[in-house]
Amino acid sequence: MTDAKLIDGTVFSGKLRETIASRVAEMKGKHRITPGLAVVLVGEDPASQVYVRTKGKRTVETGMNSFEHKLPADTPEDSLLLLIDSLNKDPAVHGILVQLPVPKHIDTQKVIEAIDPAKDVDGFHPVNVGRLAAGMDALVPCTPLGSLLLLKDNLGKLGGLDAVVIGRSNIVGKPMAQLLIRESCTVTIAHSQTRDLPSVVRRADIVIAAVGRPEMIKGDWIKPGATVIDVGINRIDLPDGKTRLVGDVDFASAVKVAGAITPVPGGVGPMTIACLLRNTLVACARQHNLPEVE
Ligand code: NDP
Repeated sequence: MTDAKLIDGTVFSGKLRETIASRVAEMKGKHRITPGLAVVLVGEDPASQVYVRTKGKRTVETGMNSFEHKLPADTPEDSLLLLIDSLNKDPAVHGILVQLPVPKHIDTQKVIEAIDPAKDVDGFHPVNVGRLAAGMDALVPCTPLGSLLLLKDNLGKLGGLDAVVIGRSNIVGKPMAQLLIRESCTVTIAHSQTRDLPSVVRRADIVIAAVGRPEMIKGDWIKPGATVIDVGINRIDLPDGKTRLVGDVDFASAVKVAGAITPVPGGVGPMTIACLLRNTLVACARQHNLPEVE
């Protein structure tokens, strides 16, 4: 059997960002509106700092305004909520993202619920969660949305396919399952208490791995020809003292069986930021009653 086709998220996300940039230019030219994304970082977590820097850079590259708010780790919850309130009211800001995790003294759910659902480009506000579940227009979490775009680009229509989502987090697993239901897949959601996970995975035409366990899903769990989307990002130690990024899927064995598979890195990862930009553009268009961007 030949190796699976590689689903290249770097190339796809690059094209998506180009499309977004041309829509932004159109919005500026025709309507004199510049979409704006505010990103709030509380504390100095090194990984979060890198994410926030990359998000700001990509936002500016597409011609949007980027507003970065870096707050010290000991910022009181009230001060953060006040900042969110002022961003909610700021007409130059169309999307608001508070980089998670926030320090322990801050209630994450309170922060999520403080963001105006119309500006909630992470799609975590209960209003957007509910709208997605009800099949209404919603701002959809970026990582599952990016995974769906890769799936559709690769498979076309998804209706009738068996999909297994491994992981049921609010950020990835649950919204991913909702999106696949919306595409008329038959969806199974697996988690840490699922019995006989290999046989559950083996019946799937589409496997979404969002577990956070390095290389857990083995090639012999995969139905031959299935499409595998590996959301996992795990850093593992190598014997020579270096580290390496791996997904939740054991790529070396899965690539021999799957029909198509995302690599880690270079698969879902770059789609997440591209979808954040897309959500900002969509939020801006909706706030100004302009036609939606696909
Ligand atoms: P969470 O830790 O929030 O959720 C993990 C899920 O996996 C839980 O539902 C858990 O089940 C399930 N799980 C854990 N162990 C097992 C097991 N042995 N068998 C079956 N299910 C199991 O993680 P996230 O959803 O936030 O992230 C998942 C992965 O995706 C991580 O590697 C993360 O780094 C990556 N990620 C990547 C992004 C990207 O941009 N590409 C963005 C966000 C996340 P239970 O609910 O029962 O505990």
